[in-house]
Amino acid sequence: MITEQEILTMYEDAGALLNGHFVLSSGRHSARYLQSALVLMSMNNATDLATALIEKLNADSQVNINDIDMVVAPAIGGLVIGQEVARQLEKPFIFTERKEGEMQLRRGFTICQGAKLLVVEDVITTGGSVRECMAVVRQHGGEPVKILAVVDRAPTAEGRFDVPHDTAISLDVETFTVDDCPMCAQGTVAVKPGSRGAL
Ligand code: ZN
Repeated sequence: MITEQEILTMYEDAGALLNGHFVLSSGRHSARYLQSALVLMSMNNATDLATALIEKLNADSQVNINDIDMVVAPAIGGLVIGQEVARQLEKPFIFTERKEGEMQLRRGFTICQGAKLLVVEDVITTGGSVRECMAVVRQHGGEPVKILAVVDRAPTAEGRFDVPHDTAISLDVETFTVDDCPMCAQGTVAVKPGSRGAL
């Protein structure tokens, strides 16, 4: 079984553990950022991370893997890891995506009434994308039963989800509002991770 330290090393080796001054998707600022897409460039990494997530799923006595009908991920972050988790579980994979800011089920994907879905994401912080994805699943008659994410950036945050969630690694990264941000106070400019300035 892959350890949390081995996963962190995987991120470091891929240059995916970034230090700087970043604007997160929530709008908050942070000095560290995990760029999972760089880790998931390697299919071997994707395979190992998906295996680690499925081990967490196996350890959850409240969820029977045989009862899961489909895997769903919020695009874009959850696409690669979600598809690989689905491949290993031999379940169908679908994704939700934002159109004009609103999370939707598109591309002809359908969810059977009462279907049980496993939700997979790469990195969760506030959990907004995962919650929006679950809301779409419910609108279509499905039931999200479990959330798996590679990284939890706010492991001490409570009340983010109304279904159980597990992550391969937890990394408690402090985030700030613009008004409280010490990097902003020093006069540096926050950049969006993945933009030219962040890499
Ligand atoms: Zn800042």
